[in-house]
Amino acid sequence: MELIPLPAFSDNYIWLLHHKRRVLVVDPGEAAGVLGWLDQHGAVLDTILITHHHPDHTGGVAALRESTGARVVGPRNERMPEPLQRVGDGDQIEALGLRFEVLEVPGHTAGHIAYYCADLDDLPAVFCGDTLFSGGCGRLFEGTPGQMLASLNRLASLPGPTRVCCTHEYTLSNLKFALAVEPGNEALVQYNTECVRLRAQNFPTLPSSIARERQINPFLRSGQPPVIASAQSQMAEPSTDPEAVFAALREWKNRF
Ligand code: ZN
Ligand code: FE
Repeated sequence: MELIPLPAFSDNYIWLLHHKRRVLVVDPGEAAGVLGWLDQHGAVLDTILITHHHPDHTGGVAALRESTGARVVGPRNERMPEPLQRVGDGDQIEALGLRFEVLEVPGHTAGHIAYYCADLDDLPAVFCGDTLFSGGCGRLFEGTPGQMLASLNRLASLPGPTRVCCTHEYTLSNLKFALAVEPGNEALVQYNTECVRLRAQNFPTLPSSIARERQINPFLRSGQPPVIASAQSQMAEPSTDPEAVFAALREWKNRF
């Protein structure tokens, strides 16, 4: 099984799984790169998984379905390019001999879902779209801070080795913000150095892991004293409530 982040647009990844010449892609915002890859490897597109309705995640679906006949799976509660198999929380999908569980993770969009595979070549993986990024999280376009925090906590409770396959290469700018929030976090400082080196060579910083994100991502750390202290400096009325801390962090990041 190969797990490949195919670059798309300026900073998207279309995650591609390849096994015995069969392919699954997640969030194909455009078709050309996927079609080129299939052609080059003599592979067949089997399944398309979609996390949410934004065009940079769905723009290639119609063209890919038309030219490959692939099955399309997407969230139950979002506007989607029809036809597709609609799934919701707790549903299981089988593809390429793998089993994926659907997790509803609202916040970035109202019906956003993630796909969790407990055993992808001996390691778990989660395809989480624009909910959890390395060092950050998606903007709250259609959800409340409370919803997003619950969604992120749900992802954070997945096993530590779970590979985090998110859809954007936002890591370096997220880490700039994370360092402003938590300058004394040694794991964060080290991870930033590593990611700067990777990007200088044009390598992806992804996938990350849940264990790493718990250590370095301020949006998963709204219960940690240094994060609370920094967030309070941005609040009109300082609070230690995790939801208020999270909301203050998210608004601060929007302006950062
Ligand atoms: Zn999005
Ligand atoms: Fe996106």
